[in-house]
Amino acid sequence: MNLSTKVAIVTGSGRGIGRAIALKLAEVGATVVVNDVGDAKPVEAVAGEIKAMGRECLPVMADVSLSSDVARLVEETLAAYGRIDILVNNAGINRDQLLLRMSEEDWDKVLAVDLKSVFLCTKAVLRHMAKQRWGRIISISSIVGIMGNKGQANYAAAKAGIIGFTRTIAKEVASHGVTVNAVAPGFIDTEMTQRLKEEWKQELKRHIPLGDFGSPRDVAEAVAFLASEEAKYITGQVLGVDGGM
Ligand code: NAP
Repeated sequence: MNLSTKVAIVTGSGRGIGRAIALKLAEVGATVVVNDVGDAKPVEAVAGEIKAMGRECLPVMADVSLSSDVARLVEETLAAYGRIDILVNNAGINRDQLLLRMSEEDWDKVLAVDLKSVFLCTKAVLRHMAKQRWGRIISISSIVGIMGNKGQANYAAAKAGIIGFTRTIAKEVASHGVTVNAVAPGFIDTEMTQRLKEEWKQELKRHIPLGDFGSPRDVAEAVAFLASEEAKYITGQVLGVDGGM
């Protein structure tokens, strides 16, 4: 696997799964644009790690649920490197609550960050990828978007939405040399899952055939494969990284 001529944008890559994806893509040679919202320090730390590997890296703070920020993210990438080959739609949040207690605000926020961002970022990079006749779009869905999960109606709807979006755009852009896939992680050890109560974590682990939560690196390996030349005949797919759940 060699991505040394490729430029990748990884959204939400200041920590967790996004950070692991950014580091893995850099490890196999890619130039990486790391993005996050809020505190700039984690993104600069990831950028520092990538530069220490001898790779190019540009940190861009942007809220990917806002079209003006997404336009700036793409403009800054093109200004720095003149191309975009790989987009990883990773940024995501959850605001869990049973439906009867779920506020409209929490519904809207999760749908904006987890699903609308995928529409905005994909649309913003597609023209450039189509012109190059090469592109890879990989979006991080979730097993919750396939199976559902009590207390996560907003998150499950957004993550299921990513799957429908992926299968549709894959068909729209296949003739332009762009592949579009999703990765659906199960339970991965990040800040998102570290917030779960210990007894609930133990209960979840009983339902994972491989017996434990995955690591961000497990997801990053799958993303790097889908981003590679070797995955050129794979599009419109949802790859589970879930320990067999
Ligand atoms: P995480 O540790 O909470 O990290 C999410 C990252 O996204 C953070 O760096 C966060 O930035 C960033 N982000 C949030 N809103 C953003 C926005 N509007 N614009 C740009 N960046 C934004 O989560 P994670 O566990 O690594 O999850 C990464 C992705 O995998 C998410 O899409 C998540 O739904 C999905 N996933 C996770 C699991 C799991 O078990 N962990 C399972 C299935 C799917 P801040 O630090 O500024 O908040």
